[in-house]
Amino acid sequence: MLDIKFIRDNPETVARAAALKGVEFDVAETVRVGDEVRRLQTTVDEGQRVRREVAEKFKGATPEQREQLRVEAKRNDDELKENRAQLEERRSELREYLLRAPNVPWEGSPVGDGEADNVVIRQWGAPREFDFEPIDHVDLFTKRNWAEFDRARKTAGDRAYALKNEAVLLERAIHSYAIDVLLGKDFELVSTPVLAQREALVGTGFLPGHAEEIYYLERDELFLAGTSEVALVGLNSNEVIDARELPRRYAGLSTCFRREVGSAGRDVRGLLRVHQFEKVEQFIICQADRAESDRWHEALLSTSEQILQSFELPHQVVECCTGDMGLGKYRMNDINTWFPSLQTYRETHSCSSLGDWQARRAGIRYKDTDGAIHFAYTLNNTAVATPRLLGALVENNQQADGSVTVPAVLRPYLGGRAVL
Ligand code: AMP
Repeated sequence: MLDIKFIRDNPETVARAAALKGVEFDVAETVRVGDEVRRLQTTVDEGQRVRREVAEKFKGATPEQREQLRVEAKRNDDELKENRAQLEERRSELREYLLRAPNVPWEGSPVGDGEADNVVIRQWGAPREFDFEPIDHVDLFTKRNWAEFDRARKTAGDRAYALKNEAVLLERAIHSYAIDVLLGKDFELVSTPVLAQREALVGTGFLPGHAEEIYYLERDELFLAGTSEVALVGLNSNEVIDARELPRRYAGLSTCFRREVGSAGRDVRGLLRVHQFEKVEQFIICQADRAESDRWHEALLSTSEQILQSFELPHQVVECCTGDMGLGKYRMNDINTWFPSLQTYRETHSCSSLGDWQARRAGIRYKDTDGAIHFAYTLNNTAVATPRLLGALVENNQQADGSVTVPAVLRPYLGGRAVL
């Protein structure tokens, strides 16, 4: 969400942001409704002032004057009531517009329509040269009895899976390692609820725009969250934080649910694109300071790169283009990890800065040392998300006999085992 004042003062900037992101946003209509709100607010303020004035006059008035003042007060109250109702209506209309306002992207983001226009900005490691024919994670998991695919679909339908045996232990090890990395950086560990109310999804920016991608439990008016970011924003929503408590840094743990309606037919084999997965998420709330937010962006990105490096997984960091980053993002960097079976890098992490776009929606504010109240800045990045990363890890570390070499950092979580 953007401030109406910002839109009024910078109409071209906002219109250009919408064009760069490929979204519809009617700047002129938003400003018109905003002006209407401002006009009605002035009228309501004036009505309240008159009301106080009449009450004041009433005190020293004669009985005849009082009769006249009563008539005046009644007329003023009727008008005030009507204007208040109109103000409320226009305010919610304005909020509907503002919820669809695009954040202005970073000027360094490449201009483009989608993933194909993202730009690789650095690369780590090189794809391994295998001296045998490597197999993909589905064949490997099946060969080792590490997962069920078709049989899991009897329960959960398309894209379902059930991890088994060492795959479960390896997934746990990946998550435990990521948690320990974040604890070492003073992140607060939160295991978040996955059920979310509508307002929590509006607050994070997933509604109204992405309704199709979210599971909805109609009977209970609840949704299944696609990321722990929903609950981490929710925890802080409509609160005023003491600036001395910032930054808040969270490691959010949750199962994530995605309908993946837009990806029909894509990645139907294996663990790349599933409806239910496990994620450790990095989430930051900091002061409304661009330089500080930029430092956090680099820090979140670097932590994920370090995690991939300690897993010895070749990866690329990409600068996401304006058309790929989504409505609320100021800047987005994906990290794509090498999948030998696909002979390509696929997204395993996504790091985003949102400025105050999200905090404005959710009402996350802070009070600085001189008492002024500001909307905070928020950022997020994946630390690890499995089973996609699990798939990459086993494919890259497989041996000719189907065993998998365990990266050194994960061995302590697997009773010291170097090979599974
Ligand atoms: P996102 O929260 O959409 O930015 O995604 C963060 C990470 O979660 C991605 O980079 C993937 O590693 C993982 N992820 C997202 N969607 C899926 C999915 N449908 N299946 C498996 N992993 C996913």
